Amino acid sequence: MEVELTAPNGRKWTQPLGLFINNEFVKSSNGQKIASVNPTTEEEICSVFAATADDVDTAVAAARKAFKDPSWKSLSGTERGALMMKMADLVEQHAETLATIECLDNGKPYAVALRENVAEVVNVLKYYAGYADKNFGQVIDVGPAKLAYTVKEPLGVCGQIIPWNYPLDMAAWKLGPALCCGNTVVLKLAEQTPLSVLYMARLFKEAGFPPGVVNIINGHGREAGSALVQHPLVDKIAFTGSTATGKEVMKMASATMKNITLETGGKSPLIVFDDADLDQAVTWSHSGIMSNQGQICTATSRIMVHEKVYDEFIKKFKARVEEISVVGDPFEETTYQGPQVTKAQYDRVLSYIKCGEEEGATIALGGEPMPQKGKGFFIAPTVFTNVKPNMKIFREEIFGPCVAMVAFSTEEEAIQLANDTTYGLGSAIFTRDLVRAHRVARDIEAGMVWINSSNDSDFRIPFGGVKQSGIGRELGEAGLAPYCNVKAIHVNMAA
Ligand code: NAD
Ligand code: MN
Repeated sequence: MEVELTAPNGRKWTQPLGLFINNEFVKSSNGQKIASVNPTTEEEICSVFAATADDVDTAVAAARKAFKDPSWKSLSGTERGALMMKMADLVEQHAETLATIECLDNGKPYAVALRENVAEVVNVLKYYAGYADKNFGQVIDVGPAKLAYTVKEPLGVCGQIIPWNYPLDMAAWKLGPALCCGNTVVLKLAEQTPLSVLYMARLFKEAGFPPGVVNIINGHGREAGSALVQHPLVDKIAFTGSTATGKEVMKMASATMKNITLETGGKSPLIVFDDADLDQAVTWSHSGIMSNQGQICTATSRIMVHEKVYDEFIKKFKARVEEISVVGDPFEETTYQGPQVTKAQYDRVLSYIKCGEEEGATIALGGEPMPQKGKGFFIAPTVFTNVKPNMKIFREEIFGPCVAMVAFSTEEEAIQLANDTTYGLGSAIFTRDLVRAHRVARDIEAGMVWINSSNDSDFRIPFGGVKQSGIGRELGEAGLAPYCNVKAIHVNMAA
């Protein structure tokens, strides 16, 4: 049920391998497992139990029971908040181990996992812990004959499905608001990267969460994921992942009309006007596509540059990639970019690079595998120029360290290019003209606009998309609404 592991940085820990149900780790009903692979070495780390539909049923039953149990149901918001604070403290205490596991299983740089991802978990848990006793209803004054008020009540059992690009962060974004509002949860991990959140699972028990409140399972999407989405006793589904899978989830959830939140793909535009501070634009646009190995749903993967500054911008951007995007072992302090998460993602990104070439774009930089000591799913950071708006590399989410550059001549054309997509997640604008910045921000069809930055997300600010980038919001105060029901109570006061 567990295995002792040691990482290349010397850190040792006991890795749980089971399904975390009712505060205990258990085997899958038929004993099936999924191997977790280290993308740096291509070697198996360990094999983790993978839930069957029966196991999903067991987890949902545990969550259902916990939802009605006084040990959870009768807690005040203040008491729930205190449990979440305790959990945040435990995550902080285990920060180095969690970051080590994330680096090993996902391939992201250790320093990033520690400073950004584990820190995000702590921040999100504390933020929603603080809201747990501040999320209440209203009295609505309709005159003396009636007392009307609302109470915010939890939805029930929340099925949550997360992807592999930010395992720890995505778990926190989902668990934080759900627990804050008093729900119980079955969280299904991405089968490519289950290890860090399984390690975190036992901290929920240690923090004092009653059995069944938080259940965390590994499993295949089509098996465990779809069983969760279709389960009649699940009240809500929150999903982050691809748009194609999001559509399937929506369809399956419709059978019992579940409340849904979807956070799906993107092809986010970044516009550089001719009055922009070019060095700033280069710094942010580089990290906006090249950080996290380019595996970011809000990656600003389409860069539109005013024709007057296009050549200069590309020259500076290439220099920035060469200076900053050091590809290598993610445990090395000097590494900026590790391997893609899996062989499947590596193949997919390379096929897009080939497609870009065939479509006639110019590879100005990169465009090839970059194995380290002959191993690993590493891809050189890739810059495409001479891109046409009808090319696949400009239209489809690549989810790798690949950026497409296009020149424009007018503001109108830039907005038209930015909006010429089925997606609408992030977007960025670089200009020194304040009036233009705010004007364009309103014209862009996206859930988020960064002015003079990119991917500068923050747990206190709502995150989510429009069009086929999703439904609903996570983070910020807006992140609470998808996890509670506003019940109206009418009291007749008339004689
Ligand atoms: P995916 O959407 O298939 O997987 C995301 C999660 O959904 C995983 O936990 C998976 O097990 C689960 N899932 C898969 N099929 C399911 C089903 N039928 N029912 C319920 N759950 C299901 O994504 P992927 O295949 O891992 O990646 C493919 C592409 O998706 C990537 O190349 C990238 O473009 C995109 N992606 C986007 C994000 C994002 O944050 N927006 C995250 C990961 C992947
Ligand atoms: Mn892995």
